[in-house]
Amino acid sequence: MQQKVEFEQRVHKALSDSQLRQNFRSTMDGLMAKRSQAFPDKERLEKLRLQGAQIRANALLKLPELLEQLEERCTANGIRVHWAETVEQANQAVLKIMQDHNATNLIKGKSMVSEEMELNHFLEQHGIEVLESDLGEFIVQLAGEPPSHIVAPAIHKSRQDIARLFQEKFPDIPYSEDVETLTRSARDILRRKFYEASIGLSGVNFAVAETGTICLVENEGNGRMCTTIPDVHIAVTGIEKVVEKLSDIPPLMELLPRSATGQHITTYFNMITSPRKEGEKDGPREVHLVLLDNGRSSIYEDPELMESLRCIRCGACMNHCPVYARIGGHAYGTTIPGPIGSVIEPQKLGLDRFGVLPTASTLCGACGEACPVRIPLPKLLNRLRFEQVRDDPPDNTMGKGSQRSIRESLVWNLWSWANTHPALYRLGCLFLTRLRGLVPKQLGVWTRVRKAPAIAPKTLHELAREMGIEDE
Ligand code: SF4
Repeated sequence: MQQKVEFEQRVHKALSDSQLRQNFRSTMDGLMAKRSQAFPDKERLEKLRLQGAQIRANALLKLPELLEQLEERCTANGIRVHWAETVEQANQAVLKIMQDHNATNLIKGKSMVSEEMELNHFLEQHGIEVLESDLGEFIVQLAGEPPSHIVAPAIHKSRQDIARLFQEKFPDIPYSEDVETLTRSARDILRRKFYEASIGLSGVNFAVAETGTICLVENEGNGRMCTTIPDVHIAVTGIEKVVEKLSDIPPLMELLPRSATGQHITTYFNMITSPRKEGEKDGPREVHLVLLDNGRSSIYEDPELMESLRCIRCGACMNHCPVYARIGGHAYGTTIPGPIGSVIEPQKLGLDRFGVLPTASTLCGACGEACPVRIPLPKLLNRLRFEQVRDDPPDNTMGKGSQRSIRESLVWNLWSWANTHPALYRLGCLFLTRLRGLVPKQLGVWTRVRKAPAIAPKTLHELAREMGIEDE
């Protein structure tokens, strides 16, 4: 209940911020238009989506064996693999690597898993300085905020907001609202930090089991610098990011940047298969891969909900979601916002705490149609709504049945009983139409933001009879 109240408060706050709504609306419109232009041939798009879905579904089908293969190949390549069942274990694994190298600062590339781990906060509590090097992440770190979009973390900020933030945090830099000048300032600050950092951390877009390769997609070059300049590179990822073969990557790469930002290809695509080898001039001397479960195994147990693990984190479902475009990412209160966040996060954090999220959807279907790996998001959102109120829930959905109310169950049972008994149904309809004036105009939460539906003066059967259509 607490989470629901807090969610509603965040939503109201977002909806009353016209600047925020404008920032989101214009950016989402731009991203949707770019995606559409990037896929001019709709037939080709559908073929690619099918291929992408099959690749990801195939990888999930073989997930346990692919993870073993990934560990084996990575280890053979000289990459050290760390398994973490919980966020705490993953944080401890990173901390241990830092401590083993007496490292006091970490430079990070973009990683949603590290956000899930709340790694920055954890490391800072242990006296380690953490710096985000992705421009959007750098901005939200300066502002002390979480990302509001998985691909564009500072999407909620206008350039004026960013100019004011830079002026506050770096008073020596002249005030400017020019995007290029702001980017150059950030670049100058970050460039120095790359050389000072002893350890770099990145996320993982795909981990290839066949070759033990970590793939990293990015536009700014900071990911490549995080993974090559410091002596040690740590990659953190969820266990679902594994794919079977290297040949699975090109179709996924054809889908990912186009779906995310409308780019045909990102500026950088990094493939990391080992630490620096004898005679090589650059690259880290140690590479670590932290594989995090944190509830994914439990999602995996349900054949339908498992489909959400196909996600390649392109953000297209958010960009196309009318709810996300109005309330923005922070309103969700979880690491991953939008439709996919509303499916994944309640499963990981519990339907009892985050069960309100699957209801933050109009079920218009836009998210499912935009998803490059065909995750049936509306179906999964509906399923979670059902899980919240069912009385015989399966064991693997945390917080199952938590929103069940006796009054509501009674109403629906009566409804279903009436609808399966024709005489009762007709009698009910007759009463409703004739006594419609007695139906209250205010129907609780339902009429808080909308009008109560007007009840027709005649039943459907009466209207049909008037038209000469007889009952069968
Ligand atoms: S659910 Fe689909 S559209 Fe949404 S982020 Fe994941 S891959 Fe992209």
